[in-house]
Amino acid sequence: MKQYRIVLDRAEVVESFAAQIKAYIEQNPGYVPLLQAVEPSGDIAYIQYGLSFAQEFFQDLTIFGMTSHCALTPDTHSAKFPVVSLLLFEKSNYLVQGYDCHDITPSEAGREFCTQLSCISDLKGIIMMSSDLTLSPQGFIDEISDHYPDVPIFGAIAGTSALSKDLSLVFLNDKIFDRGIVAVALYGKELNIEIHHDLGWKPLGRQFTITSSTPDGIVKEIDNQPAFNIYRKYLGVEANEYFFENTSAFPFVYKKDNKIIGRVALNYTNNDLQFAMNIPTGTKASLAYAKEKYLLAGTLKSANKLVDFVPEAILIYACMSRRTLMGDQLADKEFSYFDQVNANSTWSCGFAEILYNEEGAGLLNGTFISVGLREGNAKSENKVKPIIDNDINPSTTVVPLNDRLINFLEHTTADLNDNVMQLFEMASHDQLTHLFNRDAFDYWFDKKYEELDESGNMAMVMFDIDHFKKVNDIYGHDIGDEVIKGVVKSINESIPKEAIIARWGGEEFIGIMPGVTKKEAIDLAETIRKSVESTSFAPVKKVTISVGVITINKYNCLDKRNLFTLVDSALYEAKETGRNKVVFRATNSV
Ligand code: GH3
Ligand code: MG
Ligand code: MG
Repeated sequence: MKQYRIVLDRAEVVESFAAQIKAYIEQNPGYVPLLQAVEPSGDIAYIQYGLSFAQEFFQDLTIFGMTSHCALTPDTHSAKFPVVSLLLFEKSNYLVQGYDCHDITPSEAGREFCTQLSCISDLKGIIMMSSDLTLSPQGFIDEISDHYPDVPIFGAIAGTSALSKDLSLVFLNDKIFDRGIVAVALYGKELNIEIHHDLGWKPLGRQFTITSSTPDGIVKEIDNQPAFNIYRKYLGVEANEYFFENTSAFPFVYKKDNKIIGRVALNYTNNDLQFAMNIPTGTKASLAYAKEKYLLAGTLKSANKLVDFVPEAILIYACMSRRTLMGDQLADKEFSYFDQVNANSTWSCGFAEILYNEEGAGLLNGTFISVGLREGNAKSENKVKPIIDNDINPSTTVVPLNDRLINFLEHTTADLNDNVMQLFEMASHDQLTHLFNRDAFDYWFDKKYEELDESGNMAMVMFDIDHFKKVNDIYGHDIGDEVIKGVVKSINESIPKEAIIARWGGEEFIGIMPGVTKKEAIDLAETIRKSVESTSFAPVKKVTISVGVITINKYNCLDKRNLFTLVDSALYEAKETGRNKVVFRATNSV
């Protein structure tokens, strides 16, 4: 396949650019053309003119695209001009569809697209663009990824020319959608797609909790305070017309499915913050900052992976917040790495990035997504040398004050987090046995009890060492301590890893085991009892334990205090009836 990048830097002469594109198509007879266009002015009349002109001028050329926050190439760093990427497929093909989401929801559109996809084979990837900030295209992504979990989806939410107003558009041939989705399915046996994804922002400062948000991306409260206060407090900025400039270099970051994702606030109303996608209530997030070098180091690595892939085309979908942080010069540098891999790489930039694959779950912010496309095997003669940027190596000269301050903040944050973790560990654990203490057990009991669904159950066990006073009396307190640790070792070796065990007091231990039945719990308690009985705790001759066992489900109708009393009474019965035994008490025996 081939790729040509054309910058429409003399916007008034669309005709001459069209002639240039036509020449490329004619130079490659038999190739299937596809044109991605990214338009920064957002001028609907101009876009309509360009698309109508193209309809008449070209036969069989599909044009799809979006408005951009900016469309950047080295020649157009001020983002003034439309940029088109002509893709010419030699052995592959595409299926394209546009949906007007005034009439249809993204999920419905996704289902419809899936029906069409069922007619093609060797589906390798889907480019997707959507417009209208209040239209979350996640439903579309979810429908497709449910049917085609191994097919990557990538693209962007269209940007807007004026940040104060959402003027985003997507288009397909002569249709323009102010609220719509355009999707291009790429297929072919020989088509290979390799995608890299870089975030590069790191959490800074303390974590806060989103305490009120709506599904359409509005965050109303953070830590029960008006959401904007987070910027007032930590960045010292006010809600005014410089909102994006002041805040976009500090995205919110949080973990989702164990991956750090970024969310850039796009606007504010009073004290509410508008994001391109939902941040669920309860999310624990931090503000983040990145050093330019982090961002560049990440993308350089990706560019070098694409060097090995030897792409014939590169499409990039990147976030405007990176440019706000890095400035034009460095943002162009980020792009130039890919230009060295393929001189026709095309970069576009919208409200948000879309990536569904093993690295992304759909909508992203703050990222840089680089997509390499190739037909057939990599041709070694097309492979370029590894890309090197000496400027991102550790500095041997004076480090800029900003970088030093960031370094200081990052490491202070890390130190504080370490201290907090240590304090938390100390406050929640028993020093002798390293088990949870009673307070921590209380917390875990409540949490696990809450998590029990209608049919779920858990077992609770309480252990107490038999005649332990004698151990202390005969062998002394230090040996007694060792015995306690030995018994805990036996318990830890036998219980399932989901179990939560705590030191209840002296030489008494309590545990809950989610999902464990009565029989399993009794068997487990027996195993532990026998293991203690047969373990040598020299010089102590023999140590035994007594165990009380109960099971808990949502139908027990017993409150927490009664459940603890019940397990205690099972243990008491074990003591009363001879010790070194396990006693089960049913909840209805109260
Ligand atoms: P029973 O079989 O009825 O449980 O008899 P027992 O002697 O074990 O009685 P009980 O459980 O009431 O006694 C607990 C003893 O454990 C009392 C206390 O001196 C001792 N103990 C509590 N905590 C510690 C500890 O951290 N280290 C040591 N060495 N002994 C402890
Ligand atoms: Mg005891
Ligand atoms: Mg005791």
